Amino acid sequence: MPLKLTRTAEKIPYYPAAGGYSLPDGVALLASNECPDPPLPEVVQAASAALVATNRYPDPSYLPLREALAEHTGVEAERIAVGNGSCDLLLALGEALLEEGTELVHAWPSFSVYPHLEAATGATAVRVPLDADHRHDLDAIADAITERTRLVIVCNPNNPTSTAVGLDALRAFVRRVPEDVVVLLDEAYVEFAEAYRPEESVALLEEHPHLVILRTFSKLYGLAGLRVGYGLCSTPELVGAVSRVRQPFSLNVAAAAAATEALRHPGATAARIAQARESRAAVAAGLRALGIEPAASEANFVWFDLPAADGDAGAAEQRVIAALREERVLVRSGGALGREGALRVTYGTPEENGRFLAALGRALA
Ligand SMILES: *Cc1c(COP(=O)(O)O)cnc(C)c1O
Repeated sequence: MPLKLTRTAEKIPYYPAAGGYSLPDGVALLASNECPDPPLPEVVQAASAALVATNRYPDPSYLPLREALAEHTGVEAERIAVGNGSCDLLLALGEALLEEGTELVHAWPSFSVYPHLEAATGATAVRVPLDADHRHDLDAIADAITERTRLVIVCNPNNPTSTAVGLDALRAFVRRVPEDVVVLLDEAYVEFAEAYRPEESVALLEEHPHLVILRTFSKLYGLAGLRVGYGLCSTPELVGAVSRVRQPFSLNVAAAAAATEALRHPGATAARIAQARESRAAVAAGLRALGIEPAASEANFVWFDLPAADGDAGAAEQRVIAALREERVLVRSGGALGREGALRVTYGTPEENGRFLAALGRALA
């Protein structure tokens, strides 16, 4: 008997997950924008210590983590929402704001989870193409807002294209958005950006009554496997809106303890940012030596178009992905993320970056 799903469920696309989870050790996993280094030993210790009390439910206020985040960001705890990864908050915001007859505006290509919001809520998504430099076209996004728009998303730096827009442009944009439209600024990679420092965009919360800045412990902090994200909100009302639609206790105690501890090591965090910047320079130089000009990365990954000698970008992409895989290097298909013939490659360790560049050179030869 075929399983009968709702029309809504049938419309929801599967998340285009990377492969590689069952591959043997020694494969360079450069497909999911994770941190190449494991969490700090103190962070692992904090998560383990939390396990001894897991006969109890978490404190649903998650106050120690929210207070640590308040200290870290300068935003009061009552305006901070925490979630089981930032995608938990993203989907909750969609559920709280969108329904049939409403619209959602976001750039494309952008984060592959955004199309889920449209399918899951019945809202109509208006996708605004990136500009020629693979950046958000903020004017076009603002122009696309109508009286039906409830949510507009800006991913900065943008996944999958790695580019960022500057703070002045962002401020001007946010001021243009009508006050009854929620602005979601997805800053999963903000710590790696050059455009502005993470402390600076927080000031935008005062510029718009309904702004949510989404951040995560999955990338810089190396906690993708534990799932912790947070939202900095203009008002506590927005925190309430996402809490309302989610299951209680959405964050587990080990994850909350690990994230709280992770914030206590700014020196180690800064070293990781420096390492990502070194990788950025090395990978860009290596690509240029192969005749490829990557997008201007402000994230922990690079985005570029492959040369397509025979004009078939999709075929060139599949050929190169297969050749890299043969050499135990996993990267992400641009076609699956909105642009055929492109690749998205996460920075790995210096050794992995070198392996990727050497394998790419052989694949293109
Ligand atoms: C990785 C990523 C996230 C983070 O998702 P988590 O659920 O926190 O792991 C959010 N937004 C974008 C654009 C991302 O690339």
